[in-house]
Order: sequence, then C-alpha cells, then structure tokens
Amino acid sequence: MDRTLAADLARLPDLLDATRRAAAEALATLAERPVVPPAPKPRDPAPLPEEGRGTESALAAFRERWEPRLSASAGPRYLGFVTGGATPAALAGDWLTAAHDQNSNSSMDGAGQDLERETVGWLRELFGLSDAHTGTFVSGATMSNTTGLAIAREWLGERLGVSPADDGAAALGPVRVLSGAPHSSIAKALSFLGLGRSSLVRVPTLPGREAVDPAALDRALADTPGPAVVVANAGTVNTVDFDDLPAIAALRPRRDFWLHTDAAFGAFAALSPDHAHLAAGLDASDSVCVDLHKWLNVPYDSAVQFTRRRDLQARVFQNSAAYLGPLGEHPDLVHLTPENSHRLRALAAWFTLRAYGRQGHREIVERNIAGARALGAALEEDPAFTLLAPVRLNVVCFTLAEDPDPARLTALREAVSAEVFVTPTVHEGTAGLRAAFSNWRTTQADVRRAAEALRTAAREIA
Ligand SMILES: *Cc1c(COP(=O)(O)O)cnc(C)c1O
Repeated sequence: MDRTLAADLARLPDLLDATRRAAAEALATLAERPVVPPAPKPRDPAPLPEEGRGTESALAAFRERWEPRLSASAGPRYLGFVTGGATPAALAGDWLTAAHDQNSNSSMDGAGQDLERETVGWLRELFGLSDAHTGTFVSGATMSNTTGLAIAREWLGERLGVSPADDGAAALGPVRVLSGAPHSSIAKALSFLGLGRSSLVRVPTLPGREAVDPAALDRALADTPGPAVVVANAGTVNTVDFDDLPAIAALRPRRDFWLHTDAAFGAFAALSPDHAHLAAGLDASDSVCVDLHKWLNVPYDSAVQFTRRRDLQARVFQNSAAYLGPLGEHPDLVHLTPENSHRLRALAAWFTLRAYGRQGHREIVERNIAGARALGAALEEDPAFTLLAPVRLNVVCFTLAEDPDPARLTALREAVSAEVFVTPTVHEGTAGLRAAFSNWRTTQADVRRAAEALRTAAREIA
C-alpha cells in the first residue's frame, strides 16, 4: 500500500474528526457569510500532485483554496433557482451513504434496494400517490422527467405496435408532446430521447396564467393524429402555477395520451392542507417527477420518478447480462434506471423522513410559503417594486416598478448578492427576478433582511 495511504488508514478516525470539524465550521457561518462571494479572479488550475501528502493536507488545501469561494447555497437566504439545503438528518444520511459506499442496484447484494423501496413508499404517501405507482431514485428532476418521458415513448410504441426500445425512436414517426408552460428540462429530455426538441408543442395557457387551458389542450389533442404525450405542470418555476390535473385527466376517455406531470417542487403542496388542492389529482398521472434536493432538503443530487407502468420502464432500461439477476416481477433497480451503478441515494431521504416525519416536513413547507408571502407583501408595499404574479406558493416573481430593463435588474441582483441571492427571469415579456423559498433554515428574520437589502439596492441604483 502507498505509504501515505497506509498512514491515512491508520488514523482514519482522526481524519474523520478533522473533516467533521471542518464541516461544522462551514455550517456555523452559513447564515452570516456572503450568500454568494464577490466574483473572484479565476485561478489557474493547480498541477496534478505527483506524490500526495495525505487527507489532512488535502483538507487544508481545500479550505484555503476553494472553500472561501463557494456560495452559501445551503443557507437561509440563497433564494435563487429553487434550491434546498440539507436538514441535519439528511446530511447525516448522506455522510453514511459515502461511508457505506453501496451500489444498491441488485438483489444479490445487501438490503440497499429494499431501503430504497421503503423510502419510495414513504414519498408516495407524502405526495398522496396510490400504490399503483412504483418509483426509483434518480439524480435530479431533469433525469426524472427524462425517465418518465422514456416510459412515455415506449407507451407510444405500444399503441402503435412498435418498440422504440428495440427499434429506435424513428419507429414512432412524428410525435407530439403537448404542454402549457414546460420546464426547460422537458425540451432537453426530448432531445436526449431522440424525439426531438421540435416535438414539443406549446398549448395556450389560461389568460394571465402559466396553467394550461384545458379546452385548448382538448383541441390540440383532437388535432393530433394518433396517441400523444401531455406534460402537465404542477408548479412552474416563474409563478408556481398548477395545471388543472383533474380536468386534464378527464379528457382521457375521448383522447389518447400519456400524462406525465412535472411536479418537481409543486408536489410538496400536498404537505400543506391549505395548499394541497393545488396538486390534487397527481395520482392520475402515468408518470410523475419530484425533485428531492429542492424541497425535501436532502443534499444534491436526488430526485424520484414514479410511474404506473413499471413493465414499460423495464422494457426501456433493462440491462440484461449473464451476471445480473433476471427481470422477474420485481425487477432489480439496475433494470429500471438510466444508471446501472448508483449510490444508495435514498439514504439521505430516508434519514430526514425518519427523523422529522410528515409533520416536520410540513412545517418546513408551510414556513417557506409564509416566507414567500411575507416577502411578496413587503415588495408589493414598496413603490420601487411590482409583483409579476401573485405569490401562489413559495416563489416571489417581481421586478422594478420603473424601467425594469435587464441591465438594471442585474445591477440590483449583484448589489444584494452577499445578503440575498435571487435569479433573473422573463415573465410574459417582462424581465424580472425570482426569489424561491425552499430551505429549511429560512425564517421571517431572513425575509426581513432580504426585503431590506432589495429596498436599499433599489434606491441606490435608481
Ligand atoms: C428544478 C426543476 C427541474 C429540473 O430539476 P434538476 O434537479 O435541476 O434536474 C424540472 N422541472 C421543474 C418544474 C423544476 O423546478
């Protein structure tokens, strides 16, 4: 064994303690250090070390060279994109995921995939899905959408008497994927799946809304020769609008379509009795995407995909080899996901659900919604700002009341980024900013700090 490696092995518990101290120090300043550090000059990449100097030296180099330049994205005022943090239990679960270093894709191995199935069952309950849905863990909502649409592609094949998994996507001929306000990852998935970005057809939304117009969807389906795919949205990123899922499902007896619902963070509305109606009807979907590194507050990268057609999923993702288990009635995970090998990704989700339960996660969701409403109210009261949409759930979509051009919004965003991080958007042709609440640490005190920073900056750039 390499001498440095052997020395590290001999003092592994000490090294883990040192790492734990470094992690605790980083987390202790999460709420106070700059949310995004001022843009530093890019560094020239360091040369590959010929001889290593062990973990302690690597830890010191990381803390000196890289740590100060990382964002506080796990902290309470990082409101960009839709970004979760990591609850204490989720962090503990993630550490142990690396410590156990399981490849939980086969029943020949230990209980890893049973733990994953238990966790998927808990998530299914949390989001009000019936046990007609099975699910697996994937790396994020983009991969979850891609997996759902891969199953949809196979379903189209079933309707047309071909198998895209065997014969390629071209066997389907032209395909239509209909959606009101799809997330950008849908087009990416269609590109990746060989259906093509241009298969995505935008269906008109309701006036002033990002929710699809069900009557327009009905017409678009009537105009589609053959079976179609509908991508419904449960929580759009700009205004957190929800398609009327029961109304879409009600088109089914007359129209032939696969219903995939992108509920990346909107599925969490189900945890709040006051907001559960927004995502009602999710269970009628043929496939569902939910992100976990957003509102479940597990570390990157984690999401879940659900479907009612595991048989089609196995047709797409089966990985037959002499040394792997047979498909059978309960296929090993290696036959269900884009990856073959994968980490025991479920463990962080298992830990946080085991530690805090439904009520603990409901509290996070409701506190985040209250935070978004409070920031929305504060900005609405201030003549410098205007809301681009009502605060429906956990996102405030806003802009400058006067002259909201992108350069001024960039100046505003950069002026506040040490205190609060928000991200740019365009809503109905108007440039704006988004503040998304999905971190378990965020309090009303953070909301006041964010509002104050935005107000001050708006005056400064005026
Ligand atoms: C974030 C998000 C995605 C993509 O998620 P990743 O985790 O970044 O892959 C897809 N759809 C919606 C609605 C999202 O909010």
